[in-house]
Amino acid sequence: MPSVTIVDETLETNPNQAMMARFDEAAEKLNLDPGLYKFLRTPNKELTVYIPVVMDDGRLEVFKGYRVQHSIVRGPCKGGIRYSPDVTLDEMKALAAWMTWKCAVVNIPFGGAKGGVICDPSKLSLSELEKITRRYTAEILDIIGPDRDIPAPDINTNEQVMAWIMDTYSMHARRTVSSVVTGKPLGLGGSRGRREATGRGLLFVIQEAAKHLDLKVPRTAVVIQGFGNVGSVAAELLGQAGYRVVAVSDVQGGIHNARGLDIPRVLQHVQKHKTVVGFPEAEPLTNSELLELPCEILIPAATENQITSKNAGRIQARVLCEGANGPTTPQADQILEQRGTFIIPDILANAGGVTASYFEWVQDREGYFWKEELVNERLGEIMVSSFREVVTYAERHRVNNRIAAYMLAIDRVAYHTKLRGIYA
Ligand code: NAD
Repeated sequence: MPSVTIVDETLETNPNQAMMARFDEAAEKLNLDPGLYKFLRTPNKELTVYIPVVMDDGRLEVFKGYRVQHSIVRGPCKGGIRYSPDVTLDEMKALAAWMTWKCAVVNIPFGGAKGGVICDPSKLSLSELEKITRRYTAEILDIIGPDRDIPAPDINTNEQVMAWIMDTYSMHARRTVSSVVTGKPLGLGGSRGRREATGRGLLFVIQEAAKHLDLKVPRTAVVIQGFGNVGSVAAELLGQAGYRVVAVSDVQGGIHNARGLDIPRVLQHVQKHKTVVGFPEAEPLTNSELLELPCEILIPAATENQITSKNAGRIQARVLCEGANGPTTPQADQILEQRGTFIIPDILANAGGVTASYFEWVQDREGYFWKEELVNERLGEIMVSSFREVVTYAERHRVNNRIAAYMLAIDRVAYHTKLRGIYA
């Protein structure tokens, strides 16, 4: 493994530091105006809320939550809501900024936001989860809305959570406001294809990368970390497209079959057992072993900081396609670049989710709903053209794909900021 001097360990543990390191590099290469640099580096708003909840046993518990709005320059803020014991304000700040850059990379008219509640949903009843969601919504009510900030699902939140947020907001507004959140159930104004959109977006950019790198699809081995909304859909669609998905994992561990996993059967197993672990037609392995397996395409689709200076030298994949936000640290980037890994960075690769969310928001406001084929076709157009734009930009400016994506995004947000000017 090449030797790397770690100058700042927080770059490997704090997602906000990791995001800022990439922002700084891209801003320097763009020769960004110093004032704009300060402006774009800072979130627009950070809200901390405390959420009192009467638990099922009668105990009063208080949870802490956040909503960070990074940018409103290109349109209303857009970003998911995460429920996890690991949620921190710095993580929310990073994820909110990533949403700004992501929406700019795929050129949709939103800025970035992110929210989260520090809680462990696996230890909560459905009724406790609903109370947390409704009170959290009530606490952030003043800063969200179809023209202000539109939440969506993220880790441990789903269509049901979005339905509760929509209902709570609507009760306060005294009318149904379906466009206040995306990722809703279909019957409540959700979009066809939204649930699958992030995984489908990964398929689109992987297909483009395969063409670009001349990979032969039927033999292409894929490894996926995380088998939730993003990872499981990507596994299913890649399997259908002829890729050989050889390993998948969730928080409890992974499974491996070098001949290829039967993904529909893995999905059935997960439905029954709530984990991929124990799937009979595969060997068990740990999450760290999984990341280091020989394969052509590695998709981290779980959480941040999975590929670091400690394991990047052992990553064997030819293509790293980031389904998760921030799965790779800046130090790992350097090592992977030396190894010639082709990275499809998070702010491009997983932008299918927010792109379909944009479609959902448009449909809710029109009150007219599209066929799934139309959603997928428009999603494909945006993902493919964004992939080509980033790769062309990288070649033209002699930077890697990640820095190219940041430069494209920052340039767009900076341009809109200059057009709007600074309100004083
Ligand atoms: P999810 O909650 O549906 O699934 C997360 C999966 O990761 C689960 O299988 C979980 O067991 C696994 N996991 C969690 N921690 C892990 C760990 N430490 N090691 C291994 N596996 C672990 O969440 P999701 O919506 O699929 O999101 C996954 C990632 O994709 C997140 O980084 C999220 O921000 C990002 N993302 C999601 C969307 C979306 O539309 N849902 C869009 C863009 C980006």
